[in-house]
Amino acid sequence: MTLASSRPRASRVEAPVSSPPVSSLSEIHPPRRSASRARPGEDAALRRAFFALDEGILLLDAELRLLLCNPAARRLLGWVGAPPKRGLGLAALLEHASALAADDRAKLRDHCAALRAGGAQPDPESDAKETWVVLHDLGARLCSLGRHGIVVSFPAGGENGEAALRDPLTGLGNRRAFQAALAAALARPTTEAALLLLDLDRFKHINDSLGHPVGDTLLRLVAKRLRASLRAGDILVRLGGDEFAVLLPRAEGADALAERLVDLLSRPYLVEGHLANIGVSIGIALAPADAVEGELLLRRADLALYAAKAAGRRRFCRFHPEMDARAQARQALETDLRRAVALGQFHLHYQPLLEVASGEVIGFEALLRWNHPTRGVVSPVEFIPLAEEIGLIVPIGEWVLRQACRTAATWPEPIGVAVNVSPMQFADSARLLRAVGEALASSGLPGSRLEIEITENVLLRDGAETLAILHDLRSLGVRIAMDDFGTGYSSLSQLRSFPFDKIKIDRSFVSQIEAGNGGREVVRAIAALGASLGMTVTVEGVETEAQASFVAASGGHQMQGYLISRPVPSEAVPALLAASPAPRRMVDISSPAK
Ligand code: C2E
Ligand code: MG
Ligand code: MG
Repeated sequence: MTLASSRPRASRVEAPVSSPPVSSLSEIHPPRRSASRARPGEDAALRRAFFALDEGILLLDAELRLLLCNPAARRLLGWVGAPPKRGLGLAALLEHASALAADDRAKLRDHCAALRAGGAQPDPESDAKETWVVLHDLGARLCSLGRHGIVVSFPAGGENGEAALRDPLTGLGNRRAFQAALAAALARPTTEAALLLLDLDRFKHINDSLGHPVGDTLLRLVAKRLRASLRAGDILVRLGGDEFAVLLPRAEGADALAERLVDLLSRPYLVEGHLANIGVSIGIALAPADAVEGELLLRRADLALYAAKAAGRRRFCRFHPEMDARAQARQALETDLRRAVALGQFHLHYQPLLEVASGEVIGFEALLRWNHPTRGVVSPVEFIPLAEEIGLIVPIGEWVLRQACRTAATWPEPIGVAVNVSPMQFADSARLLRAVGEALASSGLPGSRLEIEITENVLLRDGAETLAILHDLRSLGVRIAMDDFGTGYSSLSQLRSFPFDKIKIDRSFVSQIEAGNGGREVVRAIAALGASLGMTVTVEGVETEAQASFVAASGGHQMQGYLISRPVPSEAVPALLAASPAPRRMVDISSPAK
């Protein structure tokens, strides 16, 4: 259990809430600046309103002694005993607030002291400043009245209340509390601040594999570790999901803190009997160096976070101006890509697969191309990662399936087509299955002539669900190939998880065949492994005769590469087939071609 959940919530604390007798009002009423200014009846009306407010209010003088405290404040603070007397010091006052944890009290004290110090301006009347303090169970708004003191208000429940500012899972402030805190922190142009955006690495994996309750507990543990690493005055919130933010009231030391957090959060967690390993990526932006305005600071910290993730996660990155330029280029690419989908600027190229034993072309791999209006043909390596990130890969992938099947249906039997399917398409397995079924049905291509190529990342997703859909695809007669074999993290264990029909040995190994630094051994070993598991072994990226001879001698069943042909437009396929000896059959899974 975390600190936050073990402490009574303010709203649950039973505290005396009745209004004090009117005689005691004089004890806590502030001295009027000019009695003559009050109109008849106004004073009494103001008092009534003050006591009737749902919002808790503490009015402190410039020495941080109590002037006024309304019943709502006593209720929200969990005040025990008789109403506090005017003149009581803030520290003593907070000691009676049973709803506040010790660090909440310290935080409030520190913020009030800071506001008071900052409030000693030449013209305090015109320099009212406010700041938000996020406590465990409450949000507090501190407003400086200059030499007249400070108003501390605690919003009641509802739209603007404590619940609206709090993340119920971790007890930290939420995104809304953060925005208020950020705006308040940056209100003065001279403010120095550091914003750290944190995104947990591999959290989704824990959630998927160990379940959401374990994921929730893990998030609470993360919040606890974070809380323990911060100083009073630092603001910590959970922005949502596995994202947290830290706002430091200083720019100095942000890197050191980020480094410490990367180390601290990467240490193993014991969660309900499971050992969980996660990491964290952190993006940092500083005020005023990187931005003086909240939204821009947030965006720049986010760009830095993106860079930290792209650089391999488990690290922090500071914002650099060139990240802006990169983001703009990416934004432009995204706009173009969305337009490309709408305008149908894609087409497919087809690269032949050669059967080693017969020397026949037995099928083609469909490879996506984008005819960019100004950049010409853009490689999928450039735009597929972005399409995956923004979800466009799903409609694009469906178009590829339809188009590839329609084209392959015009080829002589049994020439087949292989289509690359992105891990993102597996997120909605029912949709993928439907797309494959419809592509086959509308083209009339038999399932046996379609091969789906997946990468190892597909299996890193929800394992059980992915395996189920692979089996469903199989039941349509479709074959499943593992692409780029050997480049992922856990190739061998994945081979056991699903009876793939084919493995495609990645080009990176083939290119090392002639270099004599282990490439030959790897290709030979994988070919033997695939064959012994009854899988067809295809070798990708064959560019030279020497590589082709080696692949043939190593027992590879099929090869693909520039030596045979580069990917070609569909119009060139008939010529390639005409040049190849007539194919006798498709790849036989049960006894792969030798
Ligand atoms: P992949 O599926 O491994 O496709 C093979 C890539 O290697 C293709 O690059 C192909 O042109 C290239 N290649 C083939 N033979 C040789 C060779 O001898 N030497 C060299 N240097 N390269 C060779 P391409 O077309 O640029 O595609 C790159 C990757 O983009 C593909 O790798 C695949 O992962 C992805 N991709 C392509 N089309 C699609 C698609 O429709 N959907 C999805 N999700 N991904 C696609
Ligand atoms: Mg492929
Ligand atoms: Mg490949």
